[in-house]
Amino acid sequence: MISQTAAAAMRAVLEGAWYLDEPEDIATYSYDGFLPEFTPDAVLIPESADQIAQIMKIANKHNINIIPRGAGTNICGSSVAREGGVIMAFHRMNKILEIDRESMCAVVQPGVVNADLQKEVARHGLLYPPDPASMNVSTMGGNVSLNAGGPRGVKYGVTRDYLLGLEVVLPTGEIIQTGGKTLKNVSGYDLTRLLCGSEGTLGIFTEITVRLVPLPPAKTTLQAAYADLDDAATTVTAILAAGMVPTTLELMDRTVLDVISDYGGAQFNAQAQALLLIEVDGDKDLVNKQGERIEALCREKGAIAVDRAHTPEEANKLWQARRTAFGAVASMRPNCIVEDATVPVKRLPEIIRKVVELTHKYDLKIAVLAHAGDGNLHPLIMTDLRDKEEMARIETMLKELCEAAISMGGTLSGEHGIGIAKSRFMDMEFSETSLNLMRGIKRVFDPNNILNPGSFL
Ligand SMILES: Cc1cc2nc3c(=O)[nH]c(=O)nc-3n(C[C@H](O)[C@H](O)[C@H](O)COP(=O)(O)OP(=O)(O)OC[C@H]3O[C@@H](n4cnc5c(N)ncnc54)[C@H](O)[C@@H]3O)c2cc1C
Repeated sequence: MISQTAAAAMRAVLEGAWYLDEPEDIATYSYDGFLPEFTPDAVLIPESADQIAQIMKIANKHNINIIPRGAGTNICGSSVAREGGVIMAFHRMNKILEIDRESMCAVVQPGVVNADLQKEVARHGLLYPPDPASMNVSTMGGNVSLNAGGPRGVKYGVTRDYLLGLEVVLPTGEIIQTGGKTLKNVSGYDLTRLLCGSEGTLGIFTEITVRLVPLPPAKTTLQAAYADLDDAATTVTAILAAGMVPTTLELMDRTVLDVISDYGGAQFNAQAQALLLIEVDGDKDLVNKQGERIEALCREKGAIAVDRAHTPEEANKLWQARRTAFGAVASMRPNCIVEDATVPVKRLPEIIRKVVELTHKYDLKIAVLAHAGDGNLHPLIMTDLRDKEEMARIETMLKELCEAAISMGGTLSGEHGIGIAKSRFMDMEFSETSLNLMRGIKRVFDPNNILNPGSFL
């Protein structure tokens, strides 16, 4: 519980109205896209780095946990008050501060929604490539903190590849700058890259500078249907091995397609057991040539149908279906666990076979969705948290799947983060020495362990 003195001090910084502690005001902040709930003591909504710095000093003095939170869409439980404390939200810090056309970068506040930045830079003929499927709601602060990826990651990479600099309020209340607008910067340790993906445990981002690229003049979108899931997976590796790097290479299995159809999203080939959604962007000639080569390769690898979108509206419809996939599958049972194990792309067919094997072995209902072009798998496990016996089978299955991914040279998480969802598996991927280094870094940034404690470390 927060003492009255500390609460009064924080209220004074936030001028009263932006300190919430009524049960009906804070209930929404008790959970995120992961499942368990932890009610915070209060919610703070600051409007400046200066206010945040003052709050961090009060929090240190009174030993109050602070948990930063964007839109709360993370699915690893990294924006909840697991060990008590207050949530700090950033809806008031939602301005695009600058779009610098000459230096090809943008400076934004942490509460800016990814899609709003996308739309604004497109008006300047520019592209901000990271496009998490949650882009219509997730914030830049959350994206940086979890190093979000998205379908365009195959060609363009993830948030970290576009992050140039940060303004950060440290847990102790000092404000620092890292990086800047330069594309090259090798001065000192790279704090910007360390902070990206730190899951709200090392500092609070108050300004974010990102690199932009020219908006590609043309793109083409294809969908290839397969009667065999394995053929779809091997097509992915074949396309990359042929020296082509599409913008996106997404895979959906039959369960996902059925759910999208039932949801009214789109209709798919009745024989299809899997679908690849492929997009290529760049100059018009290159796009056309690559589109043709990819179409031929899909057929060679067993596609039973390949369709191309002929208009932006048709392409958008295909994408809309993909974007509704998670929500549609999640509506099938009371809860949905989204897995995120990732493998080197050539092992994709193997890990997909493993998911199918585990689905049967543990008698579970799992749909397979994957950012296949970068080996990032999202098995969607449909369940009911109240069913203890099924949850026990899922726990064993998750452990086996993570072990399999690591044994293939993969990682526990490609983009969703570790949070409280996967902290118990960290020693599968990291030695005690590596974990101790991470704990040491945390202590240097946050000596009193008040910033998002109880998360992945
Ligand atoms: C339907 C759906 C689809 C998704 N698709 C993708 C996808 O394609 N790719 C992907 O990578 N993820 C995806 N996600 C996961 C999630 O959307 C991303 O991780 C996103 O980056 C979280 O942003 P947020 O604003 O919701 O942050 P939150 O969930 O609120 O917080 C995420 C983390 O950021 C920290 N944080 C927030 N703001 C700050 C700040 N200003 N300073 C420091 N730390 C901060 C929090 O403490 C927390 O650790 C998806 C989720 C859903 C529900």
